[in-house]
Amino acid sequence: MSVQKVMVIGAGQMGSGIAQVFAQSGYDVILNDLKAEFVERGLGVITKNLTRQVDKGRMTEDEKNAVLSKLTPSTTLEDAKQVDLVVEAAVENMAIKTDIFKKLDEFAPEHAILASNTSSLPITEIAAATKRPEKVIGMHFMNPVPVMKLVEIIRGLATKDEVYQTIEDITKTLQKVPVEVNDFPGFVSNRVLMPMINEAIYTLYEGVATKEAIDEVMKLGMNHPMGPLTLADFIGLDTCLYIMETLHEGFGDDKYRPCPLLRKYVKAGWLGKKTGRGFYTYEQ
Ligand code: NAD
Repeated sequence: MSVQKVMVIGAGQMGSGIAQVFAQSGYDVILNDLKAEFVERGLGVITKNLTRQVDKGRMTEDEKNAVLSKLTPSTTLEDAKQVDLVVEAAVENMAIKTDIFKKLDEFAPEHAILASNTSSLPITEIAAATKRPEKVIGMHFMNPVPVMKLVEIIRGLATKDEVYQTIEDITKTLQKVPVEVNDFPGFVSNRVLMPMINEAIYTLYEGVATKEAIDEVMKLGMNHPMGPLTLADFIGLDTCLYIMETLHEGFGDDKYRPCPLLRKYVKAGWLGKKTGRGFYTYEQ
């Protein structure tokens, strides 16, 4: 199946990155969010990223403008009627995602594939909100999207082979590496990563060490490029909490219970880098 027009839902950290890589690979991209100012913010981040590439001599000003010209802002899901593929990257919340997919199913053309960038929610359940579960799939990019090579591709129970194949082929056109996984809570990436981050938060909560010490141990001792608490701030503490709750509920095993300190920070609105404060503070 030929895909040329793509719609990205959610212009946050992930959605803006996903829109950028599609536009850089020559696709026409509609970038959607709830409000025009949210879309503008996402487009601002993309412009800043591309300007940095120009400053480093990796891209010309003309190439930057060509990428930007591929992006069209949107605040209505009805714009899905123009596209061949939708990649949803709204917040990690099943009720919100199923509501979006129900509407997309109504508006998108019959041939269109509906993908979700969910970090952990069951693709099969998201697909069940539509009348085209065979065309629903997980396309899980990593943060920051323009830099990270991996895309975890998740088959729902009903996902057709040809849909899987199309998404694998598209992933390669984005200069990314597809890895196929089945639909279980957290898939592979967050099933392994998030309990490690949650445990790092417990070590802070129990006073085992300072946040700096915990991050330093994992960086120098395990050769991780970034400590787990810094990484949690980059991912977003709300997203980390949603993922832990999905693992906890999905497996019914208390080893996945979210740390109370994580809950407290999310309740305080300390969501990490995106809000300027999480375990660390950041300039906005
Ligand atoms: P974010 O909070 O930065 O952005 C989410 C955006 O979605 C916001 O701009 C919000 O306004 C928008 N939104 C919410 N409801 C919407 C709706 N009904 N219609 C349109 N837009 C809506 O979050 P993020 O970090 O970009 O995460 C987005 C998704 O990507 C989540 O499912 C998350 O689990 C997944 N993800 C996140 C990471 C990460 O490291 N942050 C990595 C991989 C996948």
